[in-house]
Amino acid sequence: MSRSVLVTGGNRGIGLAIAQRFAAAGDRVAVTYHHSPPPDGLLAVKCDVSSSIDIDRAFSEVEAAHGPVQVLVTAAGITRDSTIRRATDDDIAAVIGTNLIGPIYAARRAMPKMHANKFGRIIFISSVVAELGAVGQTTYAAAKAGLKGAARSLARELGPRGITVNVVAPGLTDTEMIKTIPDNIMQRMVDTIPVGRINAPDDVARMVLFLAADEQGTTNGGFYAIDGGAATGH
Ligand code: NDP
Repeated sequence: MSRSVLVTGGNRGIGLAIAQRFAAAGDRVAVTYHHSPPPDGLLAVKCDVSSSIDIDRAFSEVEAAHGPVQVLVTAAGITRDSTIRRATDDDIAAVIGTNLIGPIYAARRAMPKMHANKFGRIIFISSVVAELGAVGQTTYAAAKAGLKGAARSLARELGPRGITVNVVAPGLTDTEMIKTIPDNIMQRMVDTIPVGRINAPDDVARMVLFLAADEQGTTNGGFYAIDGGAATGH
């Protein structure tokens, strides 16, 4: 049966691949964008996820068009890589605001209706950097690791109401986000991936669809790395 799905950051990259998979499965899909609207065919709502006012407005628009959000995927994210000595207050606030506070705002806003309907699927997009750490990504890794604690707490809080909360942690994925990595460094990173390649966005999308399925009702509070085995052992 068609469900109301909201993907933050669903206008491009991993979020778009996720949104397109849900749409292909017959769901009513809305995406948020910050600067660049998505391709035609998806309900697009402008939203800065680090603003609770924007989140509230985005949900209201989606509810009016598609009904209460039953599946929430938070894919909006940014990096502002720099060594900690060079990280500005603004870098730190923006990275935490977008990658950690945004998903928590969205989960909070989704909650009353999921709670009332005794059903919900929430999937936070984290990163394997949450497990591995990375030079220049102190704040990003902290935000992405924070999603794990948030999901595990929500899993306990909301599980009794039929709402599951899980984390998907991609490794390197072929999107704009990694386009600035120089070729020689990229090759060194690929060499550390047991399967010998980075993800396509759809590799991540397929896992999200699996976790969001109606019948996946006991998969709750999990952290799933989609990284070709790069974080194995952590
Ligand atoms: P992209 O850089 O391709 O896309 C980023 C997305 O986030 C865009 O949709 C962008 O919207 C949105 N966004 C950024 N800031 C905000 C904001 N303040 N409010 C609302 N939306 C915002 O990234 P990816 O597709 O690669 O990344 C998707 C998720 O996956 C992110 O959370 C990222 O951290 C994570 N990830 C990515 C990896 C990779 O290698 N690519 C690896 C591990 C995790 P707009 O275009 O309108 O600005």
